[in-house]
Amino acid sequence: MLDLVTIPCLKDNYAYLVHDPETGETAVVDVPEAAPIMAELARRDWRLSDIWITHHHGDHIDGIPELRAATGALVTGAAADAQRLPPLDLALPDEGALTLGRHAVETFPVPGHTVGHIAYSIPAAKLAFTGDSLMSAGCGRLFEGTALQMHTALQRLARLHPDTLVCSGHEYTASNIRFALTLEPSNTRLISRSERVATLRAKGEPTLPVALSEELATNPFLRTHSAEIRANLDLGTAPDATVFAEIRARKDRF
Ligand code: ZN
Ligand code: FE
Repeated sequence: MLDLVTIPCLKDNYAYLVHDPETGETAVVDVPEAAPIMAELARRDWRLSDIWITHHHGDHIDGIPELRAATGALVTGAAADAQRLPPLDLALPDEGALTLGRHAVETFPVPGHTVGHIAYSIPAAKLAFTGDSLMSAGCGRLFEGTALQMHTALQRLARLHPDTLVCSGHEYTASNIRFALTLEPSNTRLISRSERVATLRAKGEPTLPVALSEELATNPFLRTHSAEIRANLDLGTAPDATVFAEIRARKDRF
């Protein structure tokens, strides 16, 4: 078993701690800022061993120099993006493999938001760290890649075990669900999720992580097959990638 801690950072970012009680190894996924992560480590008396980077944006890496200096943790990220990441101790190939204690960690490209974006999956623990690729009820904006790249990346994440907990980079769930409801207003799972999310946010609590099965049932970017979404977009028999691109374009204008 691994312990997972969700840490709010900056305005609406999340960092995640993954801790292996057996060996004491602890990784953090993304470092928007160092202070809240160091406070959580101190509170739990955990020693940080690893820093895993999903992508190069400042709101995911700006705290790394300070956190690394304070902890000596090894920094891991995509070799393909090394020129715009903090110095890497471990530069991952496209299909990467590492460990946290005895747990195998798989990494793979999820381009779209940025071209060098990667995800980290720990299959035995059913955890996936998706950064700004697959997000709670949404997906990241296409700053560098194409809709087809993002669609393909999300399809790969969608094939993980449905009980996988999706840990993504931002608290955008409420607004993502407002958009999703414009496309699929009859989706009962989406309606009930909307109510649960509103309750959580009213209490100031994170809506993440979220089970992949819940995403598959409610995230429009994973639901290009939905007849209701297709009808609302006037894309009855279009290829999934076309439906995906139209959903992304509409979300940009939402
Ligand atoms: Zn980003
Ligand atoms: Fe971000």
